[in-house]
Amino acid sequence: MGLEASLTADGFLTSSLQHLINWGRRSSLWPMPFATACCGIELMSTASSRYDIARFGAEAIRFSPRQADLLIVAGRVGIKMLPVLQHIYMQMTEPRWVISMGACASTGGVFDTYATIQGVDQFIPVDVYVPGCPPRPEMLLEGVMAIQRIIDNEGIPPKVGGKRAPLEIALAPTHEVSPQPARLTVGAS
Ligand code: SF4
Repeated sequence: MGLEASLTADGFLTSSLQHLINWGRRSSLWPMPFATACCGIELMSTASSRYDIARFGAEAIRFSPRQADLLIVAGRVGIKMLPVLQHIYMQMTEPRWVISMGACASTGGVFDTYATIQGVDQFIPVDVYVPGCPPRPEMLLEGVMAIQRIIDNEGIPPKVGGKRAPLEIALAPTHEVSPQPARLTVGAS
């Protein structure tokens, strides 16, 4: 970033307080996982060393909603679970963000039944829809970065009629999967 060179020359930096606050916010998203099905496995793998969500400052996954500001709904949500999801959302800190991960969370997926919520956005505001069944970890990281870009641009969502307006960003399913397993070359010592 050139910070070291600048500090060596001048010994100080100037910035706006709002810029610093936004930088801190976007670099320390704390996810609250609401993983109910197979998408949760991809969510776990996003935190693994291979995909390393820590590169985006979002590795501090909390299981207490009061310590989290990024709700990731991963998997289908049953009607009986819905009050719990809403309760968790209401307890999270502001400004808070919501990612709907996968077809089931966004639309009910293949579970077109009376017992499955046909899209969590009918009950909580969803900021980013991550497509896939399941989405790959890279797609979830795209969703995290989409929220970071909004925070960078001072995009705290306005309230409409006292309620928070969702961002409603739908990611395009453009990620191309590389051949797996990835080839590993061990160099001669
Ligand atoms: S979207 Fe697919 S992978 Fe994700 S929970 Fe539903 S069935 Fe499982």
